Amino acid sequence: MLPRTRVEDTVLDLVAAARTFDHAYTWIARAVSRKLVTVAALRASLAGRRRIRWRRWLADALEDAEDGVYSSLERRYIKDVERAHGLPRSEHQARRLLDGKVQYRDNWYPDYRVVVEIDGPDYHQNERVQLDKDRDNRNLALDNVKTHRFGPVAVTERACETAAMVAATLQRNGWGGLPHACRKPDCAVG
Ligand SMILES: [Zn+2]
Repeated sequence: MLPRTRVEDTVLDLVAAARTFDHAYTWIARAVSRKLVTVAALRASLAGRRRIRWRRWLADALEDAEDGVYSSLERRYIKDVERAHGLPRSEHQARRLLDGKVQYRDNWYPDYRVVVEIDGPDYHQNERVQLDKDRDNRNLALDNVKTHRFGPVAVTERACETAAMVAATLQRNGWGGLPHACRKPDCAVG
């Protein structure tokens, strides 16, 4: 018999060894989205550790993973674009039927029929590109759903411009609120 480590302990070991918190979050998101581990098990394991790196950020991160935020880039979108600028809250991994097919959306604003998809850095070499284009077009044609599709730079360096764009689309689709500037001194919003 080989010694076994529980999945939640392995995930926390990988988190503790990660170079950045984005990397750390990637381990959590992968394990949770593939249903290898539950957030409850991760919380229990975390509570049993006296010392762990990133502890201050982990509680929030686990909450986001539980809420269906399945990649570190998506989490950047939620934190640095959506919440930091006071946009409405999107639903994550929302399951919808279109044309008889099930689709999952990264970020869905149901009241305004707007989707925001976050594509990873290797997206352009990926065969998903054409499938996603088809899907975006069907969404628009059949369902009047508008899709924004952002890459890594748009949700990091250009988070403020991205927030301004999404806010404008949401407002045009009935959002009565106003976005506000984030903490960056040169924020493009507001
Ligand atoms: Zn900003």
